[in-house]
Amino acid sequence: SNAGLSIRDLTISFPGPSGRLAVVNRISLAVEPREILGLVGESGSGKSLTATAVLRLIDPPGAIEDGAIMLDGRDIVGLDERAIRALRGGEVAMIWQDPMASLNPVRRIGDQIGEAVRLHWRRIGQGRCTKAKVRAMVLKSLETVNIPEASSRIDAYPHQLSGGLQQRVMIAMALVCRPTLLIADEPTTALDVTIQAQILELVRSLRDESGMSVLLITHDLGTVAETADRAAVMYAGEIVEVAPSAELFKNPAHPYTFGLIASTPRRSTARGTLRPIFGSVPEPGVVPQGCRFNTRCPKVMDVCRTVSPHVSAVAPGHTVRCHLHG
Ligand code: SF4
Ligand code: MG
Repeated sequence: SNAGLSIRDLTISFPGPSGRLAVVNRISLAVEPREILGLVGESGSGKSLTATAVLRLIDPPGAIEDGAIMLDGRDIVGLDERAIRALRGGEVAMIWQDPMASLNPVRRIGDQIGEAVRLHWRRIGQGRCTKAKVRAMVLKSLETVNIPEASSRIDAYPHQLSGGLQQRVMIAMALVCRPTLLIADEPTTALDVTIQAQILELVRSLRDESGMSVLLITHDLGTVAETADRAAVMYAGEIVEVAPSAELFKNPAHPYTFGLIASTPRRSTARGTLRPIFGSVPEPGVVPQGCRFNTRCPKVMDVCRTVSPHVSAVAPGHTVRCHLHG
């Protein structure tokens, strides 16, 4: 079953000079069943930290301070270590920017994927777990991600494969356990443009086949436009806008989203005409009072410097957190 992911009022904090700092501040976010949700923002906005919380991998002294992370009716925040370990790499799979962070350089790829299969056999296998059954499942996973000559590459070492193929192997390893949720954190950032498009297309088609939900984390709005069904824009630890991807590009409501779109290169846009957003994401210790974007916002008003804006709806399924609306 896949009931999707629902994050409610999640706060992640770290110790600061005078008490704990909410680096992720009361965010709420849902990834529907079979949906690809793009979580987009500049680096330092808290996107990866949010994903890390879903996996319950936040290193102390960082901690989930408040909120719920519901996956298929269970709250991940309250699960014990054993239950969370069973979830990781099983019902919740993840792929990262660097495949070599997940692949062991001195083990054959087939053995590595096979280990994941064995670990989660009770959920995904049928009958007794045998070597032949595991190998068949591994081979099928390599074929599913379109690795050419999978039956010979199954015995290759990671370094014998190109970066694009390594990324496919990592996806095979993530998907072999039939996750209900795939978390992909900048999965194509290190790849060249052609391979990027192929990998994103692969993620979409695997979602179509398996019905899993995907949380796609990226700083690149182009990736969101091409891949995600809906997008959530994150700034300084808060979600500032949520909309279907096409709607977000057509009718952005938050000044930050405007800036992101304006600074996203398009094939038809000459380099010199890009308008990057002035400034950068504030460090957690110095987020301004009121709206966290007020130090960079071209539309800033007096109220923005004192009052934190509420979330309001600008269209069905389109919400924004800004005093210009609602
Ligand atoms: Fe800009 Fe004010 Fe809206 Fe914040 S609330 S984005 S400062 S207009
Ligand atoms: Mg990141």
